[in-house]
Order: sequence, then structure tokens, then C-alpha cells
Amino acid sequence: MFSLDQFPLPFARDSLEPYMSEKTIGFHYDKHLGGYINNLNALDAKGATLEEIVKNSDGKIFNNAAQIWNHVFFFAGLKNSGGGVPSEIASAFGDFKAEFKAAAMSVFGSGWAWLVDDGGKISIITTANADTPTRHGMRPLLTLDVWEHAYYLDYQNRRADFIDAFLDHLINWEFVLNNLKR
Ligand code: MN
Repeated sequence: MFSLDQFPLPFARDSLEPYMSEKTIGFHYDKHLGGYINNLNALDAKGATLEEIVKNSDGKIFNNAAQIWNHVFFFAGLKNSGGGVPSEIASAFGDFKAEFKAAAMSVFGSGWAWLVDDGGKISIITTANADTPTRHGMRPLLTLDVWEHAYYLDYQNRRADFIDAFLDHLINWEFVLNNLKR
């Protein structure tokens, strides 16, 4: 059994204002992440850890387990006064922000944009629905949730503005660089 208490938010709920409101965080963490946890607890998942369940499951169990993992990882990559692009990341791209934004905009419907280590190459990818890079042999470094629930309260249909706010103000680069070193 999993519980929301196992995955505390690494920041105060109002600390990402005005780029991500306390109201959005409340719904996203309590209702969406909480919902995936409740759903998974109601299913017969096999595995000692969340990572094992994500690795070895499919169907409803995979969808809910991967959504828990993706959300915990997403929240861990956010901070107030993020922004800038560290040289380790900037040097891997022509224009990191433009390329990440184009990828995040290209997700049709619900999904995620990711910065990953793909066999030693730092790359930007997208996944649909609950899909997650570890299922494709890639190591996640950062993710942006582009499901509509991630931004609708603050930005309505303006996904581009949400992506800009994330890229300019909300990325926890210490988290990304620590992931890169591991
Ligand atoms: Mn979400």
C-alpha cells in the first residue's frame, strides 16, 4: 500500500506563485497524485517498490504506478526562482529552451516532456499518457507534465505560456544536475 505521505512535496504549496498557483498544486498533488495512489492501492500490484511495479506491470497497474512515479519526479524538479540553463545542459543543444518547448508543445493530448540521459547522450523526448523513459532504457533527468490538469486552472488552454513559465522560472537545476551525476 502506498500513501501520499510517502511522497511529500519538496516545496511549500504557495512557493511557486505566480507561475504555478497554490490552487493548482493543491489539486495536482492531493487529487491527481492522490487519486493514482488510491487507484493503485485498489489493484493487485506485484512488486516491493514503486520502481519494480513500474518496470514489470502493464495496463491499469502500470498506468497508475507510472503516473505516481512521474508526478513525484515532476514535483522534485520544481522550485521557486528556477530558470537559467546550466552549461552542462545548454552545451548539449543548439537552444535548449526552444527545443524543450517545441517538444512539450508537440504532445497531442496528455503526456510528458522529458530531459533524459539516453545512453550517455542528453536528449529531449516526449511520452504519451503514463509512459515513462525507464521503460525505454533511458534515465530521466527532468520532466514537465503537459496533461491539461497541470496548467488549466492557471493558464486555461495556453500550454505555451505554462511551458515558458516552467522554463524561465520553475526548474530545479540542482535536481537535474544531481540526476546527471548519478
Ligand atoms: Mn499531472
